[in-house]
Amino acid sequence: MADIVKIFEKLQGSFKGEILRNEPLTRHTSWQVGGPADLFLVPVDKADLALAVRLLAEEECPYFPLGAGTNLLVKDGGVRGAILDLNALKDLELLENHRVRAGCGLAMADLIRVAAEHGLGGLEYLYGIPGTVGGAVIMNAGAFHQQFGDVVVAVVWIDAGGEKTWTRDELSFSYRTAGFNKGQIVVEVLLEFEEGDRRELENILRERSEYRLRTHDVSGPNAGSVFRNPPGQNAWRLVDEAGMRGARIGDAQVSEKHTNFIVNLGEARAADILALIDKVRRAVEEKTGILLEPEVKIVGEDD
Ligand SMILES: Cc1cc2nc3c(=O)[nH]c(=O)nc-3n(C[C@H](O)[C@H](O)[C@H](O)COP(=O)(O)OP(=O)(O)OC[C@H]3O[C@@H](n4cnc5c(N)ncnc54)[C@H](O)[C@@H]3O)c2cc1C
Repeated sequence: MADIVKIFEKLQGSFKGEILRNEPLTRHTSWQVGGPADLFLVPVDKADLALAVRLLAEEECPYFPLGAGTNLLVKDGGVRGAILDLNALKDLELLENHRVRAGCGLAMADLIRVAAEHGLGGLEYLYGIPGTVGGAVIMNAGAFHQQFGDVVVAVVWIDAGGEKTWTRDELSFSYRTAGFNKGQIVVEVLLEFEEGDRRELENILRERSEYRLRTHDVSGPNAGSVFRNPPGQNAWRLVDEAGMRGARIGDAQVSEKHTNFIVNLGEARAADILALIDKVRRAVEEKTGILLEPEVKIVGEDD
């Protein structure tokens, strides 16, 4: 097991960002559940991130990249090793030929809003999806007919071996995945938008915000869609038809409004959410023979 005290001391000499020990992850996930991380590091820039990754790898300490935590279920026992909070890496650079370079910690909403202001289209239907650019790459976030991967030209990523760039043909975007492996951290992306009409784009953003307020206002912390849509099916409909609308374990409840959302009613623990996920999967499987797969990433240890 990694020596956390030793790593902490080594980092203190060279790492520029914040270093926290036993940081509760309830503060960093949209579900507001999850135990503490042994180490919680907030690199201030790319060099700081590279330094942390190198040092953690040397010390055989597992690390886990964190964006806005909007697609994440951290278990109640927390995370052994280090969380790398990437939210400070939020550069945004407008380039020629409708291209934009964006840091992994930039909020996706900021990226899409700035793009629209400059008449750049291609991600406007994703407006309102919370999370960072890095999370959107890893999850290939999507809505309606658009997916984040559609506009990606290249991704710069790092792991213990250093920095690499993958161009479009080396990436494998498909439904809610981009083909990255554990330990590979997206640092920045080069995007190519298409020319659009600024006013039209801004209207779409407004309409998307209103739509999400109407359909996603589930009155409580959540992580968006819990289950992947099986081919040709809607997960929310399968959950609903299995009678799970409003099903509850502890303070975790299948939303009455959107049945692919599970809401934390106040005091839910990750264990409640996991038990409810399991209950819903069993109910759907019994009714339809389809085993739903979670879309949310589940990390950490049981209490
Ligand atoms: C109300 C609500 C609505 C939502 N609607 C949608 C929707 O319509 N469509 C959709 O696709 N999603 C939706 N989501 C889910 C979520 O917002 C997206 O998956 C988002 O892209 C996750 O980004 P994040 O920064 O929060 O990632 P996190 O939750 O922080 O992380 C998700 C995964 O990505 C990894 N990761 C994050 N950043 C990096 C990085 N830089 N390098 C490597 N790995 C990284 C993490 O390790 C983790 O495995 C919704 C969520 C909520 C709460």
